[in-house]
Amino acid sequence: AEAAIAAMAAARPLNAFITETPERALAQADAADAALKAGTAGPLAGIPIAVKDVYCTEGVRTTAASHILDGFVPPYESTVTANLFAAGAVMVGKTNLDEFAMGSSNENSHFGAAKNPWRAGDTDLVPGGSSGGSAAAVSAGVVPGATGTDTGGSIRQPAAYCGITGVKPTYGRCSRWGIVAYASSLDQAGPFARDVRDAAILLGGMAGFDPKDSTSVDRPVPDYEATLDAGVKGLRIGVPKEYRIDGMPAEIAALWDKGVAWLQEQGAEIHEVSLPHTKYALAAYYIVAPAEASSNLARYDGVRYGLRVPGKDLIEMYEKTRAEGFGAEVQRRILIGTYVLSAGYYDAYYLKAQKVRSRIRQDFTDAFETVDALLAPTAPSAAFPIGAKVDDPIAMYLNDVFTVPASLSGLPALSLPAGLDAGGLPLGLQVIGRPFDEPMVLRIGWALE
Ligand code: GLN
Repeated sequence: AEAAIAAMAAARPLNAFITETPERALAQADAADAALKAGTAGPLAGIPIAVKDVYCTEGVRTTAASHILDGFVPPYESTVTANLFAAGAVMVGKTNLDEFAMGSSNENSHFGAAKNPWRAGDTDLVPGGSSGGSAAAVSAGVVPGATGTDTGGSIRQPAAYCGITGVKPTYGRCSRWGIVAYASSLDQAGPFARDVRDAAILLGGMAGFDPKDSTSVDRPVPDYEATLDAGVKGLRIGVPKEYRIDGMPAEIAALWDKGVAWLQEQGAEIHEVSLPHTKYALAAYYIVAPAEASSNLARYDGVRYGLRVPGKDLIEMYEKTRAEGFGAEVQRRILIGTYVLSAGYYDAYYLKAQKVRSRIRQDFTDAFETVDALLAPTAPSAAFPIGAKVDDPIAMYLNDVFTVPASLSGLPALSLPAGLDAGGLPLGLQVIGRPFDEPMVLRIGWALE
């Protein structure tokens, strides 16, 4: 823990942490030491981790990188962090993110952008988002593991941009209880780590049924590490042809081909598969996610949590608090969400998006009749410079093209580092699996490592 605390201080220029919690880390480390001596230690005893600042942590301020949660110190612990602490993990701090997890670059943070530890010459790059601080902290070697949340790619894309591994489990695998909600039908907790094995171990410490989350699924948590070495011989791996989008950079296509070749060399069968509704996934996602967000964010009214900006009456207090407390991207999402849910537009947008979502899910179900998992790129580019897309929300949204289909379908997916682009920046490959088939996804990831 001491080494991680020192590394966290040394890495401050990255702005990866919103809150450092060294005293708590040392106290947890002492408890882990005592448990090791007593022979009662959990599987993560003494392992330093960083926690995305959307997980409520008892007695430690939780910001969701928003001004509106000013001064909010939860009196309870999220189930996932409680699970990790029960396994012996030691939290060194809470990491930076896009406000309420809305973004793909970590630039939408009230606490300023986090930086990618990788650089292109003198240019600072985004770490990806929304879990950019967690990815940067692991990539910089501050901690061996961190938590993230993935609604439309927020674990996989920053993992790819920072050259590390990130896992989005099946929807319902990890409890959402105590995690600040963005889009509740999509949000899922998962780990970042330096390699697939560490990610598998960390996921085992996070996952599990929780009666406090009605969408959490009551299934035993397998030993994810135990099946890693099974190899890919005889497995059927699908390559979805619709992911070969127009204008895909040649180096992304080459990386994908290389991943296919690696699996083939190790005895996997490669099949081209079709996911015909892929081209509608982004549009559906950017309706469903803001719709749910607009509803989830209604609770921030200046009465119950954090910031309150006084006004002459209650309505003006609401208006001023929300106008000052939410950043530009969050306000944009609330407006879009409220619009697509409004009486006159509900059928045309929200209902349509839900229908598209079920088509997308059906595409995957059909594909998994003939293949065991899918291989695709994680993102259409390497990390981009800070500021490059801030004024162009559509360009930012397009970045999520390969991650949102699995999110809309609730499927487990991981991203692992698979090579470098011409400028020496990391690129990720993504493995997508059947519901609750994290063991398969991890095993294929481990074979690709
Ligand atoms: N970039 C996507 C969005 O802004 C995904 C974010 C996430 O997964 N939290 O909604």
